[in-house]
Amino acid sequence: MIAKPKKPSFKLYALVAASFLLPLVGFFVYATRNPAAFLFLAFALAVNIVLLVSFHRRLQKKQSVIVLQKEEYFEKANLLKGELEREAQTIESFRRKIVSYSQLKDLTEKLSLCLNLQETSTTLSLEVDKLFGDKDITVILYLFHSSTGELGISSSQKGQMQVSLKAKKGDLFDQWVVKTLNPLLVEDAKSDFRFDIEKIASEEDRPIRSLISAPMLVGDKTLGILRVDSALAQYFTTDDLRFLRTIADLTSVAIENAQLYQKVGEMAIRDGLTGLYLRRHMMERLNEEVSRELRRGRELCFLMIDLDRFKQYNDTFGHTAGDIVLRTVAGILTGHFSQPGDLVCRYGGEEFCVLLPDCSKARAVELADEVRTKVQEQEIVLRRQKTHITVSIGVASFPKDAKVKEELIYKADEALYKAKEGGRNKVVPA
Ligand code: GH3
Ligand code: MG
Ligand code: MG
Repeated sequence: MIAKPKKPSFKLYALVAASFLLPLVGFFVYATRNPAAFLFLAFALAVNIVLLVSFHRRLQKKQSVIVLQKEEYFEKANLLKGELEREAQTIESFRRKIVSYSQLKDLTEKLSLCLNLQETSTTLSLEVDKLFGDKDITVILYLFHSSTGELGISSSQKGQMQVSLKAKKGDLFDQWVVKTLNPLLVEDAKSDFRFDIEKIASEEDRPIRSLISAPMLVGDKTLGILRVDSALAQYFTTDDLRFLRTIADLTSVAIENAQLYQKVGEMAIRDGLTGLYLRRHMMERLNEEVSRELRRGRELCFLMIDLDRFKQYNDTFGHTAGDIVLRTVAGILTGHFSQPGDLVCRYGGEEFCVLLPDCSKARAVELADEVRTKVQEQEIVLRRQKTHITVSIGVASFPKDAKVKEELIYKADEALYKAKEGGRNKVVPA
């Protein structure tokens, strides 16, 4: 606080006046006895008045200088105060930045510890939820599917809970981000003229009033979108959007690495021609499934499928045409056995196998016969010629037909052999 400059006090004026007037009063008393002294008295009074007036003027001048100085001091004080406030703001923004950087560092460290894409996605949305630190938000990570090229939810988080959302492939907001590749801030969806709120309401099964969203980019490649939304309007600021954008930029590489890692892993367990799992992976899954179904006391079925007279087909139409047939049959099999847990593999050559957990033998035989018909009916055009192929299938059940996995495969193979012997294009249960 700056001290205010003092005004010349009343006491000072009185002292000055008294110092002039008291001798005059004394002289006046003396002059009443000596009239000649009146002339001198009058002169002295006049001098006094002149002195007083000039003294008053000097005082006024000093006063105005002091007032000016005072104003200057106040101005300086105000400037200093403003500077201090700005400094305090800068310090606060630095503090916030340091906190954000350390949070981001933690996030990238956590992501680097993740072993697969799903874990990376879940960790990212969980950590983003924590960074925005509120229960009222939903964090969604959309990624483009490597084979279909479609946008899909990789993870969605509300608080510490994973949530299932209706708009699996994204809504109008997400389409906008994918199209423009720009970050998006919607302060209030109801008054945002860019989006048709009624259409969004029909796409979603939850209220969305505000959101921030940023594309996940690595170079020219768009991996997906990182989005945070809320049921409340005016929930996010431009600072929040900037923060989300930084998170998206920083974590995109981790997501891409996880995707590449997954791709390499998949290549090791999948067949290059048909895209189906290889026998080694099937054997591992069979191990897990056999012990799981044993624990739960449920039935598991195994199908061994072999193309009929495929050598002849190859000899007639060539090996390349044979490859097309193998791919076509693989497509029919994966389309038909699409329940969660079903596993279709290329066992080797022109043999496929299917693992059906929690499935009765009767149902497995039924499914096998349906797929046999589908293959039989499939038209394959080769060299402008319509061709057909058939399959024979052996079905074995665990634990009805076998007690260990090797026996299960053997029984299915044995049943397949019987189907071949029985004239092919048949399903035979063990
Ligand atoms: P069957 O009805 O008894 O099973 O007769 P088949 O001719 O199918 O049986 P076989 O085991 O004698 O012949 C299998 C043929 O499958 C031989 C091989 O040329 C062919 N084959 C195996 N793998 C491939 C492949 O990757 N591509 C192509 N085009 N043919 C393959
Ligand atoms: Mg064979
Ligand atoms: Mg064959």
